[in-house]
Amino acid sequence: MEAFAIENLSFTYPDRIRPALYQISASVETGSFVVVIGGSGSGKTTLLRNLKGPLTPSGIREGEVVFFGKKLGELTDKEQARRIGYVFQNPDHQIVTDKVWHELAFGLESLGMDQETIRLRVTEMASFFGIQDWFYKKVSELSGGQKQILNLASVMVLQPDVLLLDEPTSQLDPIAAGEFLAMVEKINREIGTTVILSEHRLDEVLAVADRVWVLENGSLFSDDTPENTGAILAAKNHPMFQAMPAPLKIYGELYEEGFRQELSCPVTVRDGRTWLSEVF
Ligand code: ADP
Ligand code: MG
Repeated sequence: MEAFAIENLSFTYPDRIRPALYQISASVETGSFVVVIGGSGSGKTTLLRNLKGPLTPSGIREGEVVFFGKKLGELTDKEQARRIGYVFQNPDHQIVTDKVWHELAFGLESLGMDQETIRLRVTEMASFFGIQDWFYKKVSELSGGQKQILNLASVMVLQPDVLLLDEPTSQLDPIAAGEFLAMVEKINREIGTTVILSEHRLDEVLAVADRVWVLENGSLFSDDTPENTGAILAAKNHPMFQAMPAPLKIYGELYEEGFRQELSCPVTVRDGRTWLSEVF
């Protein structure tokens, strides 16, 4: 089943002539991991916000977003709050309470869940995310990385069907970013939550992605597997090719030079090493 079907979606901000999103069509399989890439201003944030009604900016919207067979507009805000999780770029923009434990419980409280369920879910998620050690801390005492993990955990206590993340590591140091992305991967793999993540740290995420969407000037330039994306970007001499992890870049360069072979494109450094030794 499709978690999302995006049908010919266009979006124009008020007082703008050029659309920020232009005729985007794509589908997201349940349980899959989609990575959205594209230069600054290519439309990543606008696209992610259009996948959750209450977060969609005002403007002119055409086309349709269908969520598990239902038009997004037919779902109540409460349903969307629970079923569509969203993590913002800035860790401080999401936090609403002053204590870690309360932040975790807050979403469930607002949905009117009973105390017993809240306690159970919060404990479960604190352990899944390794938050036990700082469970009683004040949010103000946390590092940026911990805040972002807390934001992720606070969304996951609601047991959403999909998780949308807009460049969630852009304000984190490389170690915290790596830990955060590993957590997102674990959620996708172990809980089965569908993930749509915009990200620029591609070394970490492309190896786990099922699909890569490349946005360019609000259009979907390509929608393919990570393996094929490198070769597509290389063939079209696309600037995003420079952001690809090393194995994809090497493969793309060789492909460009007319080098063709049976083995598919390596995504991880480990695969890249094997690939190189088998090819040469
Ligand atoms: P990205 O997240 O890939 O950097 P955005 O979705 O933020 O891209 O922006 C896409 C386009 O929409 C850009 O041209 C940007 O200038 C424009 N844009 C973004 N937010 C607004 C806004 N609130 N009002 C008008 N234009 C906007
Ligand atoms: Mg953005």
